[in-house]
Amino acid sequence: LGVSHESQGTSTRDESVPVHGLSEMVVGILGGGQLGRMLCQAASQMAMKVIVLDPTENCPASGISNYHMVGSYDDSATVEEFAKRCGVLTIEIEHVDAATLEKLEQQGVDCQPRASTIRIIQDKYLQKVHFSRHAIPLPKFMQIDDEDSAKRAGDLFGYPLMLKSKKLAYDGRGNAVAKSEDELTSAVKALGGYARGLYAEQWAPFVKELSVVVVRGRDDSVLCYPVVETIHQQNICHIVKSPANVPWKVMKLATDIACRAVSSLEGAGIFAVELFLTGDGQILLNEVAPRPHNSGHHTIESCFTSQFEQHLRAVVGLPLGDPSMKTPAAIMYNVLGEDEGEPGFLLAQQLIQRALGTPGASVHWYDKPEMRKQRKMGHITIVGPSMGVVEARLKSMLREATDGQP
Ligand code: ATP
Ligand code: MG
Ligand code: MG
Repeated sequence: LGVSHESQGTSTRDESVPVHGLSEMVVGILGGGQLGRMLCQAASQMAMKVIVLDPTENCPASGISNYHMVGSYDDSATVEEFAKRCGVLTIEIEHVDAATLEKLEQQGVDCQPRASTIRIIQDKYLQKVHFSRHAIPLPKFMQIDDEDSAKRAGDLFGYPLMLKSKKLAYDGRGNAVAKSEDELTSAVKALGGYARGLYAEQWAPFVKELSVVVVRGRDDSVLCYPVVETIHQQNICHIVKSPANVPWKVMKLATDIACRAVSSLEGAGIFAVELFLTGDGQILLNEVAPRPHNSGHHTIESCFTSQFEQHLRAVVGLPLGDPSMKTPAAIMYNVLGEDEGEPGFLLAQQLIQRALGTPGASVHWYDKPEMRKQRKMGHITIVGPSMGVVEARLKSMLREATDGQP
């Protein structure tokens, strides 16, 4: 591209790409998975230029970004090279090299959210320490380094005990439950041993899981999307219902805690705050994602401004959009791989055919190069006049009994 970063200052843009969109800034995204893909789709609507860095040649964002640099977002030199082409650098995955982002920020590169946020969030233990210092309610937690400390955690917090790896966790792939002291050893082994960096969390006796997607602009203004309910299966997000069916007081408490959590972090963009609602009406924070999130996919069809458009607006400094819902109810269903390879594709295709014939349904297919069991391959959002109606439509799409509802 032949344009050095230094010559362009902080509002740099890739000179080889003509800019006629809503922003002069080229947005660089670390990661080109489905979140990167949906960011590119939102950018296209506004004719904003987006480039992605991802190691996989045919990653979901590849074909629809303005430029795809094939390389690792974990490699310092590659990220530095990529940053030269961006006006603002953002992420769709938090497992990037935080030290490189800190170095780039010192050199004047604009990272949104800030490197400090990525550093805190990518280590779940550090994240918990950070939020507890900011008086955000969370399940009790402690680091475990060996059998002794793991047993101590079990004595203190009781069983079942949730063990988590501090880093590189997603879709529950860093979680293991010990139902009793006898299961500690096998749970630790399943996570790759103490050397991987583990901590224990008290079991949260939740009645529902909630999520609040929050956006912060470059001027620190904050807006919240409606509280949603997330339903997980084997630790993986499976269904999202918007709005959540909870009392007004719970909505307010969840939104307040989400806002406070996000305010304790630095930088612009979308943040998703995962929460537990307990039987006695308490809200506990599970974790925060500093990026668009699965619990916000429904916003594409159900809100005036989708989380993806909102993230782009926030990181380039455009006015934030309206996060409220434009439909009374929405339900999002993740299409997870049910089998490897071709048999898995056939099963997914059958479901998608039924979705295409479902009123109010929109199908998103991520075009992932490989089908794997439990992998997020796409999602379906159904909107409609009430939660009862969209639930009935989902049931009928899944070929479940519909209780005689439409
Ligand atoms: P994500 O894909 O959301 O990043 P992850 O791998 O980071 O997932 P967590 O969010 O820590 O995993 O946990 C996944 C799920 O496991 C939660 O949504 C919840 O259902 C369950 N879970 C996590 N922590 C606890 C806990 N302390 N008590 C009870 N259930 C828990
Ligand atoms: Mg997580
Ligand atoms: Mg989670």
